Amino acid sequence: MSENFNAFEMAQAQFDRVADMLGLDPGVRELLRWPMREFHFTIPVRMDDGSVRIFRGFRVHHNDLRGPCKGGIRFHPQETADTVRALATWMTWKCALADIPLGGGKGGVICDPRRMSAREQEQLCRGWIRQVFKNVGPELDVPAPDVMTSAQHMLWMLDEYETLAGGHYPGFITGKPVGMGGSLGRKEATGFGVMFCVREAAKRLGRDLKGMTAAFQGFGNVAQYGVRWFTQAGGRAVCVSCWDGRDNAAYTYRRADGVDPDFLVSIADSYGAIDREKARAAGYEVLPGEDWIKQRVDILVPCALENQINADTVKHIADSVVLIAEGANGPTTPEADPVIKQRQIFVIPDFLCNAGGVTCSYFEQVQANMNYYWEKKEVLQRLDSVMTKAFHAMADMAEQRGVYMRDAAYMIAVDRVAQAARLRGRA
Ligand code: GLU
Repeated sequence: MSENFNAFEMAQAQFDRVADMLGLDPGVRELLRWPMREFHFTIPVRMDDGSVRIFRGFRVHHNDLRGPCKGGIRFHPQETADTVRALATWMTWKCALADIPLGGGKGGVICDPRRMSAREQEQLCRGWIRQVFKNVGPELDVPAPDVMTSAQHMLWMLDEYETLAGGHYPGFITGKPVGMGGSLGRKEATGFGVMFCVREAAKRLGRDLKGMTAAFQGFGNVAQYGVRWFTQAGGRAVCVSCWDGRDNAAYTYRRADGVDPDFLVSIADSYGAIDREKARAAGYEVLPGEDWIKQRVDILVPCALENQINADTVKHIADSVVLIAEGANGPTTPEADPVIKQRQIFVIPDFLCNAGGVTCSYFEQVQANMNYYWEKKEVLQRLDSVMTKAFHAMADMAEQRGVYMRDAAYMIAVDRVAQAARLRGRA
């Protein structure tokens, strides 16, 4: 992450641009520009060595005009209040564009779970819940996994919530393990959702997915399932990248004839960090982390963190690239957008492209409320139809109004939330 980058300033700049285009009245504009409330707190954890460490945690409620706040919790050493604010804001637009009855929220803890034992992580999860207990819940704010948090973390959090609340509330949190209130298909949902959009974009571009090439950044939950779907559809993923904690650097793992996602998963840890030696031994080229963006491919799929396609890196994009599918939140900065637009690369903006996760989280809540769980096939079919509808709404808007795809997605989402504000008499 570059030092001057501020994700929340970026989220506000994107919003301001579209507020101008929509001619949003000043009251609604000011309301939607800021999180409606936020919580900053400390979480004491007794570590395995007997010492007590104090972690800093956050939960931001950006907006709940269309339904309870919804969004993941990230565990990351570089987490900041402004990053969480930006991510909460993007959740509001994401849920509105997918047209699910939820608002936007996000949480985080400054920590490195890769350097913590399972017991320490459990204490951190329980401590996080104790600090926000009164301000979260199935009707207020529903957390979920995000970067470096898993189904196990969600279950510890649910258990703490239910212990304090004195009852069963499976709709309080999503991304839970299957069999413990989780939904089939939730693991696959974000990566597959990215690919449903890619499939629809290829149709609009008049291209056949079979034989198309892609470079993925990241190898967490999103990229792993994205690569699998893309490969099965006949595409060729030439690289993935991931962070290696041993020397604190990222690497790109490349194989020109296509990476094998199942093999790479088998040599990766639970955070998606691939074993470099084993990859090399299996014939993978190991390149610097930033090389993913330089590949001569048709599609770039950033599935890591924010600020990856920026003023510095955008110039490395090969002229073969026709499509960028933003699996990550906020991977492209406002400085890179005009370059991509000018080069006429088709962009599937983040809060559309990666909306599969939260859409499936919504299905998880629906199933929890019914106490009846669907087959995986049904979950994925419903997911496909939500994503396909949202994708074409964005693409139609971009075409009809002659606007950049990110602006088109924003116009639909902001308009829906602004409408909710007006209907409620809040603005
Ligand atoms: N963390 C995911 C996201 O950024 C999923 C959120 C959710 O399921 O609530 O969209």
